[in-house]
Amino acid sequence: MVKARTADRVTHFTESVIREMTRWAHQFGAINLAQGFPDFPAPEALKEAAARAIREDHNQYAITWGSPRLRAAIAEKYRRFYGMEVDPERHITVCCGATECMIATLLALLNPGDEVIIFEPFYENYGPDTWISGAKPVYVPLHPPDWTFDPDALRRAFSPRTRAIILNTPHNPTGHVFSEEELRFIAELCQRYDAYAITDEIYEHILYDGHRHIPIATLPGMWERTVTISGMSKSYAVTGWRIGWCIAPEDLTGAIRKVHDFLTVGAPAPLQEASAVALQFPPAYYEALRADYDRRRRLLVDALEELGFEVWRPQGAYYVMTDFRAFGFEDDTAFAMHLVREIGVAVVPGSSFYAHPERGRSQVRFAFCKREETLREAVARLSRLRARRAAL
Ligand code: PLP
Repeated sequence: MVKARTADRVTHFTESVIREMTRWAHQFGAINLAQGFPDFPAPEALKEAAARAIREDHNQYAITWGSPRLRAAIAEKYRRFYGMEVDPERHITVCCGATECMIATLLALLNPGDEVIIFEPFYENYGPDTWISGAKPVYVPLHPPDWTFDPDALRRAFSPRTRAIILNTPHNPTGHVFSEEELRFIAELCQRYDAYAITDEIYEHILYDGHRHIPIATLPGMWERTVTISGMSKSYAVTGWRIGWCIAPEDLTGAIRKVHDFLTVGAPAPLQEASAVALQFPPAYYEALRADYDRRRRLLVDALEELGFEVWRPQGAYYVMTDFRAFGFEDDTAFAMHLVREIGVAVVPGSSFYAHPERGRSQVRFAFCKREETLREAVARLSRLRARRAAL
């Protein structure tokens, strides 16, 4: 057999543990609280709009950087929510999910030798995205219980080699919502070091306890050095549609569009048309979204706490990081495999969110973007851990 001669860049990362846990969930018939996708239906109006778009024959390639209707709806939404003046012709690129937005942005921006600052723990993709782009990640820890960063540590991470910092607010996996003070501190460093903020705001509408989402692009001096990424997946429960967008200054948008064109040519055309409908949903839609997620959050988080997990209550997004040492396990992968195999609940081992895996060895992440009945069933299964705890 001939051994494949693969590129050096793929040696820097492993396959996604989140997606691997989904495969284990299928294999063992476990409830999937690992990967962040809803098990409840997408909004009826969106399914209708998608079916209509196909019937009306929006079935060929859309314009590479996004259907004009969708880009106009995106611009209008950013004006309405954040007072941002975004030009659909010059600033918006529609991609195959926030996932493609991130890699297209990094490929458009980075050269070998450049450094990218990433807060740790982080959404799994950011490390591999940076390596694939030929640059080097530099990690800055977020600290529980509220998952903020040490300002001095961030200051020390910036250097003349820093080309960008990746932000994610609300944050996966911790649920941290970056405050205006934190964002101003980051913005000041970006300006001092002539670096870009690449901000993944895919959970922008999923917020709890009065927390407010602030796009860093709206802070003084930041529009010209920010790429704002968001998309349809989380706010509208259509993770399989693969529609996302990035908003960037005109010259950078030109470079991102070039990369995007050769990566994928374009995002699914009929689903772009349907997405424009979602972006016109009234404020009541977002209020209901927040209230529904808050109920799911309380249900799972309270139950985990009661069972004996140490829980860091999320301020936004739909994940909760926990410490499981009360159950006598020391290793996150062993504990996650026990849960998926013996208890019937899939979660994500904490170490997969860290470049320094030892920092996440006592943690697992639960996703609560599921029906309340799914969460109740998961809690019923997890309550078998009580006996284990009692026996310690
Ligand atoms: N960014 C973050 C922080 C995520 O958690 C996820 C999915 O879990 C994504 C991006 C993926 O977004 P999309 O489905 O738009 O590619």
